[in-house]
Amino acid sequence: MKAIEPSKAAMLNQMIDEAGQIAIVAHTRVDGDAVGSCTALMHYLSELRGKKVGITFAETIPESISFIVPASDNPSIHILSENGPETLDWIKGSDLAFCMDCNSFSRTAGLEKEYNDSKAGKVLIDHHLNPESGQFDISFAETEISSTAELLFHILKKMPDISGDAGKLPKVAAEALMAGMTTDTNNFGNSVFPSTLDMASELLATGVDRGKILYELYNRFRENRVRVMGHMLKDNLVITPAGTAYMILDKKAIVEYDVREGETEGFVNIPLSIDNVVLSIFLKEDDGFFRVSIRSKEGISANRCAQEFFNGGGHELAAGGKLFFPKDIAGPEKAGAYIEKVTELFLKK
Ligand code: 5GP
Ligand code: MN
Repeated sequence: MKAIEPSKAAMLNQMIDEAGQIAIVAHTRVDGDAVGSCTALMHYLSELRGKKVGITFAETIPESISFIVPASDNPSIHILSENGPETLDWIKGSDLAFCMDCNSFSRTAGLEKEYNDSKAGKVLIDHHLNPESGQFDISFAETEISSTAELLFHILKKMPDISGDAGKLPKVAAEALMAGMTTDTNNFGNSVFPSTLDMASELLATGVDRGKILYELYNRFRENRVRVMGHMLKDNLVITPAGTAYMILDKKAIVEYDVREGETEGFVNIPLSIDNVVLSIFLKEDDGFFRVSIRSKEGISANRCAQEFFNGGGHELAAGGKLFFPKDIAGPEKAGAYIEKVTELFLKK
């Protein structure tokens, strides 16, 4: 990662000093990194800076990652789909706004307009490609890093009250940062940089219980998740001669296995373990579209595949998007043929 410019850190510090109420947002359909970085930032700002802080999310936090947020934080978490007016009021009443783990307010779904219209000072902290820095007063955008949680960790270390000592972070913040980094790296399986191990080492030294985080993240799924994973791998996985692997989870299987939000996290990674598979695509049916997850091996751009064929984007080797019907394909049954057609062309290029 690039060093954090002292002038930018000083400007951020001053904006925090001058803020009354603060709003924090992350991308729609939050993941561990989004929840971890928002939670850590909120605890830093409230516990160490004495600020009035609220997190705003478009939807409910999935059960599987809700352990990152202490139950006592509930009054400070505003969910648009549960309590719209209160959530929008929090943004309206804030004079400083943080956009975490997404490269633009356009990825905050129903919260986008309120943030765009807000007169608050705006700060971007993100690790995706193509940050829309023009929307922000200060932009910390870095792609050579594991996660937004890691980027936030390095930024907080530059704040005068932390001054390089991770031990000064609130305990909840340190744990949330570790959890966010762990999920975005698939537990150190990808996107690990020297700075990532520095962060992990420093957080461990402060007493973060990594065993507890790993238990919460990987040993507490419902049985149906493993059952539906078995079904997808045995009866659904297709591998094309060019090296694309794809699985399509349709509504029928979602109902049959009672699949809930967040329960298919990680499925897309599994086929990449097969030799000669260079691109893995996972589709999950929704109303009028599929949610698309894409992973690739070095040399193949999941980001470009998502941008060109699936109305999305993300990182070089991990991206996502949507496939609409009837806009992109006539109907859900045409998804497999579409994937085979576009990826054959894509992998030839
Ligand atoms: P996942 O497959 O885990 O849902 O997402 C992988 C990566 O792709 C994440 O970094 C996520 O931010 C990005 N991503 C997922 N869906 C979309 C989307 O609809 N649009 C864009 N631009 N990025 C996405
Ligand atoms: Mn992330």
